[in-house]
Amino acid sequence: MATIDVAAERDDGGDPVLEVENLHTQFPTDRGVVRAVDGVDLTIESGEIVGLVGESGSGKSVLAESVVGIVEEPGEIVEGDVRFDGESLLAMSDARRQAVRGGRISMVFQDPMNSLNPTLTVGEQIAETVRLHQDVGESVSLPAELKRKIVGAAKNGDAWRRAIEMLEAVEIPEPEARAADFPHQFSGGMRQRAMIAMALSCEPDLLVADEPTTALDVTIQAQILEELEGLKDEFDTSILLITHDLAVVAETCDRVNVMYAGEIVERAETEALFADPQHPYTQGLIASTPQLDEPDRDLQPIQGNVPDLIDIPYACHFAPRCPEAERECFEIEPEFRPVGDSDAPGDGGTHEAACLRRGPDGERL
Ligand code: SF4
Repeated sequence: MATIDVAAERDDGGDPVLEVENLHTQFPTDRGVVRAVDGVDLTIESGEIVGLVGESGSGKSVLAESVVGIVEEPGEIVEGDVRFDGESLLAMSDARRQAVRGGRISMVFQDPMNSLNPTLTVGEQIAETVRLHQDVGESVSLPAELKRKIVGAAKNGDAWRRAIEMLEAVEIPEPEARAADFPHQFSGGMRQRAMIAMALSCEPDLLVADEPTTALDVTIQAQILEELEGLKDEFDTSILLITHDLAVVAETCDRVNVMYAGEIVERAETEALFADPQHPYTQGLIASTPQLDEPDRDLQPIQGNVPDLIDIPYACHFAPRCPEAERECFEIEPEFRPVGDSDAPGDGGTHEAACLRRGPDGERL
């Protein structure tokens, strides 16, 4: 029986954990092709929390689904690559990809009720994840029925103990008792913690968290983000954090990628991005977001909407909404280049943006 021992392959150094290169994910429709992800490059180093921020409809979730391998048909990756630990996920055999994605990459979604099974206790669901991903998941050739039987026996074994430990790690009170509760007996915040516990239970190298705190009130949101950071250190997990909320990014991320209409338009260390945003879209996002330290500041929403991602007719996708647009912006596609002040704190020379009117050292072109 062929066994793929993905846990034994963990590598603590060297290549970035995740490299997304020139990724294009498209959806054919009756009206034309939706270019949801249109040539994205993104890298996550070991132990980093990297933010992906942008308005709804900018393609963030499709990018996450492309990384995790759950793009809904008829959508498909038509070009580019997703490398995990230096190895192309797209070039692997289906069995190997399934084992790697199951055992070393996890995902947390916005709505835990859609991801948790209402008919199983929370403890059983986490134990099931532990058994499938760590023990059974490595033997990818086992029939699904046999896997289910083994999982059924997990309650009295190590997997059940691990489930309780994980609930404890995400600070669910009385974890032994609460492990026997069903999801509807948990509050919204506790369900989201349970989802995070489940996602981290197989100690993944990469956690993809798509709007993990959006449905929660601000206090619970802050607690969960703090726990995510702590868990990242405890389990040495890299995190791709997808959100429309700049405050979440500012609090949590080491680096930020700003996405607009299927493309990354700016990326920088978090400190540099907020101290000296360069792309007019990023500047607009920040100007439209309330700041805790400036409660009286007037908010200025970005005019217009994210465009329909079918056949965008202008070269810079932001041009119709951009206060600085000139004619050439509609005709010449902006390429990434260094921007901002490379000597500024937190810049490190890694601040880049795709705008025709921005250059190094704060230059306006
Ligand atoms: S290239 Fe032109 S339209 Fe696009 S963001 Fe820069 S200034 Fe605005």
